[in-house]
Amino acid sequence: MRPFDYRKPADTAAAIALARGAASSHVTAPVQYMGGGTTLLDLMKLDVMRPSTVVDITGLGGNAYRAVERTRQGLRIGALVPMAELAENGMITRDYPVLRDSLWLAASAQLRNMARLGGNVLQRTRCAYFRDTTYPQCNKRDPGSGCAARDGFNRLHAVLGTSDHCIAMYPGDWAQALVALDAMVEVTGAGGPRSLQFADLHRLPGDTPHIETTLAPGELITGFVIPGGPWPRSLYRKVRDRESYAFANASAAVALDLEGGAARDVRIAVGGVATIPWRARKAEAMLKGKPLTEAAAREAAAAEFADARPLAHNAYKIPLGKATIVRALMEAGAMEIRHG
Ligand code: SF4
Repeated sequence: MRPFDYRKPADTAAAIALARGAASSHVTAPVQYMGGGTTLLDLMKLDVMRPSTVVDITGLGGNAYRAVERTRQGLRIGALVPMAELAENGMITRDYPVLRDSLWLAASAQLRNMARLGGNVLQRTRCAYFRDTTYPQCNKRDPGSGCAARDGFNRLHAVLGTSDHCIAMYPGDWAQALVALDAMVEVTGAGGPRSLQFADLHRLPGDTPHIETTLAPGELITGFVIPGGPWPRSLYRKVRDRESYAFANASAAVALDLEGGAARDVRIAVGGVATIPWRARKAEAMLKGKPLTEAAAREAAAAEFADARPLAHNAYKIPLGKATIVRALMEAGAMEIRHG
């Protein structure tokens, strides 16, 4: 075990001060924030992450980190709310089923009780070559070393948003729901608080796959805001190798606003197939304002995957991803919505 300092600041300013000077992206920084610790401690045990200081942020007080509330900006969710708590929230179940589903279908009960939502969106890839330090080639772990997965076993890797330098799949579920609903992320750091589109939080791998987000060094996620809504006609569908506690082979988050069978608004994001939480904007554009039929859904799903780049073992994700979008759209279209 590598020795590290453990700090538990009582307020945000102290937490940020501890992270100041972390002159690199959040994933390789020597100072790491820890919420539930469900990714960080795992990767420290595997010797993939080697922080010299772990800053436990679970002591940060205040409503801002822990509340789920409607505000003038929309639904606001604090970053330290545990996954299970949001999934069990009655208002979320009624008005945002896509958020509930994406949390229920993730991880195990123990992990959902521990993991906080701020950390959830920053979870690291499950690429086996990234997690196993006996493989020297991994651009994400060791920039410039190559990518063992390209010519290796890449059955679970991405087909959308990949680069020659990395094909690692974004592993989360909740992030797909957030990106579909146009969520914003609130962050704070040495430069003060700011807010950004959730869609702009994750970076495509390009030639710097080790830099995964647009967070500045030392920036801390404080909450999420979902504007507009509610979205009672929304859901998340996940296809995986086993029924529970597995990452997606393909998933789809869908939210619909139907009027007379036509899609007045349609939101789609896909998971399990892409390097980042993937908003299916091409598919949305083909469906918006038109009658929602299975044929139209199939055409839209095909358009979204037109630029997919499969490798030796993951071509199956293209038909599976398309079918998952179609199924999610049809099931969302058939949902019975109670008004009032
Ligand atoms: Fe590393 Fe990415 Fe290649 Fe996996 S896919 S080995 S994370 S560079």
